[in-house]
Amino acid sequence: MKFATKAIHAGIEPDPSTGAIMTPIFQTSTFAQPSVGKNKGFEYARSSNPTRQTLEKSFAALENAKHAFAFSSGMAATDTVMKLLKPNDEVICGQDIYGGSYRLFVKIYEEMGIKFHFIDMQDEEKIQNTINKNSKMIWIETPSNPLLQIIDIKKTVDIAKKNNLISVVDNTFATPYLQNPITMGADIAMHSATKYLGGHSDVVMGALMLNDEKLAEKIYFIQKSCGAVPSPFDCFLVLRGIKTLHLRVDASCRNATKIATFLMNHEKVKNVYYVGLEQHKGHKIAKKQMKKFGGMISFDLKNDTKENAAIFLEKINIFALAESLGGVESLACYPAMMTHASIPIEKRHEIGITDSLIRLSIGCEDTDDLMQDLEEALQNVKV
Ligand SMILES: *Cc1c(COP(=O)(O)O)cnc(C)c1O
Repeated sequence: MKFATKAIHAGIEPDPSTGAIMTPIFQTSTFAQPSVGKNKGFEYARSSNPTRQTLEKSFAALENAKHAFAFSSGMAATDTVMKLLKPNDEVICGQDIYGGSYRLFVKIYEEMGIKFHFIDMQDEEKIQNTINKNSKMIWIETPSNPLLQIIDIKKTVDIAKKNNLISVVDNTFATPYLQNPITMGADIAMHSATKYLGGHSDVVMGALMLNDEKLAEKIYFIQKSCGAVPSPFDCFLVLRGIKTLHLRVDASCRNATKIATFLMNHEKVKNVYYVGLEQHKGHKIAKKQMKKFGGMISFDLKNDTKENAAIFLEKINIFALAESLGGVESLACYPAMMTHASIPIEKRHEIGITDSLIRLSIGCEDTDDLMQDLEEALQNVKV
């Protein structure tokens, strides 16, 4: 089955009792059991719920995986993966991963005796040199946030396999429509379904997709034991969102390609980071592992000041100044003071997050309107 058909149909059957085409919201915590020890496949909604089960089948299909699990947030999904580890285990991860993941790793799991190595995952030799007898997991995110760096999934996964490490890819920015880590050999694909999968900025949810039977059993056990499950209503919303995933991502990619070129040619703009641009450092690898180049763009200003970024962000109209991404509406965010505020200024500058760096999540509005909005805001920016 091709992606568009999967997005609309995979895992979804008409409701057997009524024929309802849309999966009902089974707003129930428990299920009547006909006799002791017998049930109709459901006992208690923390363990499983029909609305969630349908969504999980859809999740699995999107990533070509055998198993999928839905969580109450992306962070809950990541937390579940970390619970596979024990004290003294070591994790190798990218140095520019999502800020919330960094916080979870350093503030919660390092306290519990797990060690994290944050390294440049574009450098295979560095990965190789970091691996030791305690290494258990490799965690990558590609494209990364906010500079959209690209990590070669196939190469990284091969290193993980050779060294018996669990490989996990945070696939949130790319979406399962553009990139499939499991197909490239990764053990686990992780998503913040809050972003493109939900797609309408109205729900917080996470997902894990994987093939391995034993790993799936462990993850299910952690999920039902710890209980970070999404509500049936939220599952319904994400099921609904997924039906248009390919259409929304196509529209975002189309808009982003035009907007990246527009920004690149703008006299007040210094650097433009868009995976689809040929001069982007990771463009070649992206071309190999992604179907299209996504809807995320970052750029900074020639007159690189906080004040100038603030002017731009005050003058945008259609773009909303907000954290998050991946919805139908376009958003702008200011990494230096929002998503990456916790990074010391020298470190921020060193990795390229300048004082005027702005990250755009390009939505599905009309391209001309979006470009006009950016142009008007840029006109107010000081030279
Ligand atoms: C948002 C996000 C997360 C965290 O997901 P939540 O749903 O907000 O808990 C993790 N990784 C990436 C890349 C994200 O953008």
